[in-house]
Amino acid sequence: MAEQEKQRGGISVNTENIFPIIKKWLYSEKDIFLRELVSNATDAVTKLKRLQSLGKASDFDDPFCIHVTLCKRAKTLTVEDNGIGMTEEELKKYICSIALSGAVDFIQKYEGESEDAKNGIIGHFGLGFYSAFMVSDTVEIHTRSYTNAPAVHWTCSAEGEYEIEASAREARGTAVILHISEAEAEYLESAKLREMLNKYCAFMPVEIYFEDGEEQKDGEEETPINDTAPLWQKSISACTDEDYKQFYHKVFSDFREPLFQIHINADYPLNFKGILYFPRIANRYESLEGEVKLYYNQVFVADNIKEVIPDYLLTLRGVLDCPELPLNVSRSYLQTNSYVNKVRAHIVKKVADKLTALCRDERERYEKIWDDIKQFVEFACMRDDKFWERTKDAILLKLTDGTHVTVKDYLENAKERHENTVYYATDPALQAQYIAMYEAQGIRVVHLDTLLDTQFAPCVEAHMSGVKFVRVDADLAGALKKEGETADNEALRALFVKASGDEKLTVRMETFKDADVPALLSVSEQSRRMEDMMRMYRMAGEDGAEFAFPTENTLILNNASPLIGRVNALLTTDGEKAEALAAYLYRLAVLAQRKLSATELQDFLKDSYRILAQLAE
Ligand code: ADP
Repeated sequence: MAEQEKQRGGISVNTENIFPIIKKWLYSEKDIFLRELVSNATDAVTKLKRLQSLGKASDFDDPFCIHVTLCKRAKTLTVEDNGIGMTEEELKKYICSIALSGAVDFIQKYEGESEDAKNGIIGHFGLGFYSAFMVSDTVEIHTRSYTNAPAVHWTCSAEGEYEIEASAREARGTAVILHISEAEAEYLESAKLREMLNKYCAFMPVEIYFEDGEEQKDGEEETPINDTAPLWQKSISACTDEDYKQFYHKVFSDFREPLFQIHINADYPLNFKGILYFPRIANRYESLEGEVKLYYNQVFVADNIKEVIPDYLLTLRGVLDCPELPLNVSRSYLQTNSYVNKVRAHIVKKVADKLTALCRDERERYEKIWDDIKQFVEFACMRDDKFWERTKDAILLKLTDGTHVTVKDYLENAKERHENTVYYATDPALQAQYIAMYEAQGIRVVHLDTLLDTQFAPCVEAHMSGVKFVRVDADLAGALKKEGETADNEALRALFVKASGDEKLTVRMETFKDADVPALLSVSEQSRRMEDMMRMYRMAGEDGAEFAFPTENTLILNNASPLIGRVNALLTTDGEKAEALAAYLYRLAVLAQRKLSATELQDFLKDSYRILAQLAE
């Protein structure tokens, strides 16, 4: 084509509609233009490689690569590849006529829709290349086909008017030159471009080099900005623990080591790969904000796609590569896609299987990391019954001595003496008296130390019929009582009600196996849970603030205790002394159960001083 033979034309299919729409639509995510151009360049290389492998193209000496070059002075950004290139005919076919029968209708239909729905259309109709116009006044293409047909030069204005002429390009491949518009000058900044390349192109399969024409080259060998063979593409058996850690540090810029990872390599029909990491959490107050990056054939698509990863797994970090999904996924598309549902289910299964395998095969390590992962596991079980079903044998309970048992083992162990009952403490220091009594009977007490733990207990109860979680200060009569011994003493009970100053107090007598403890408060598990819940609402500032549940307190007098026997004897000889003793014993029982209020503490100290003074006489 001679210089004078310039051809002119307009991009077909109502371009006068399309151009402004493209500009407007992608407004919120302009950065993706670079991803689109670099991924087109990658495709061009991949296509040529395929032709070579089929013997349909000769081998070339030059290594395949992509160059992204900034020329601030000329206000251009160039994306150049040495891939398949285009003949004039191909250029006209693929670039000049946007292959979108029905696309205009579609566009009109979705006018005013969410960004999300619109972004989906761009990929759907192959408008990727045109995203270049979001940031450019003019776009040029110089391209030479691998067939060595004459090179062509295409220039197109932002209005969609183009010119085709011969190009002086000698090298095989395509260079797309963007003349960045005044308003988009940020795309002439090296740092911005590097950031975009790192985000979108870090794992593309062809080497990408970034060059800033104004930056001094220091003679060092150029290194590609991307890793063309990311770890998730490798076979699982070829990856070492060290590989996984390094990949994690690099991708998530987190210097801490992850706890463990799950490498997924799902074959046909799911056909996706990925690595998910359980991050280490510095402390329980650190927010669990994970990051799961979705890729399409090594091209970055989006972060944290809730539709692919269930929300309770979003606290994980990782990468997923789903070549079955379109590059520009829209949320509405994902929500209704049955393939996505299958991917999600597969991920959940893999995570659950990994936990179960760790618990079974690497128990010591699993126990060490349990505190770090339990919030996640418990939350996931509460959110998803299937997850519970799959992981239930890998759920650990921490005992008050710091060791761990599985729920299954705990219940197995409980069979003889407290079948189906899990005794737990929420504050081992405060509840020490109770814990000691259970442990003296050989009963293991579980330590539920977070709010989530205590919310998780009802979840276990709901899933395992018959199982009850009972705090150590509830249900005291059960496991601690001497079998077959009953006792009652109405006068003594009345004395304690009077001495406590609480008319509503219920007093009961039992014979404990342990004779040392004279009296204990027992708080109904159900009413305490209600109260805990109300407190939580109050903390969250929700309704119910004024509504206080009466806690059902019962004072249990231990018939086996010599002190109780003594109070009983004093009842007939020295009523005053009996009452003073009863009041003091009641207060000790309260002290063993909860923190005293300010006035209670003052009274308690006053009584104690008085007693000490008597002792010292
Ligand atoms: P899509 O990539 O989704 O097909 P695009 O609008 O990005 O849509 O590109 C349209 C077509 O133009 C591509 O399918 C390809 O045939 C051709 N093309 C674009 N960029 C290049 C390139 N760098 N090298 C060769 N062909 C290209």
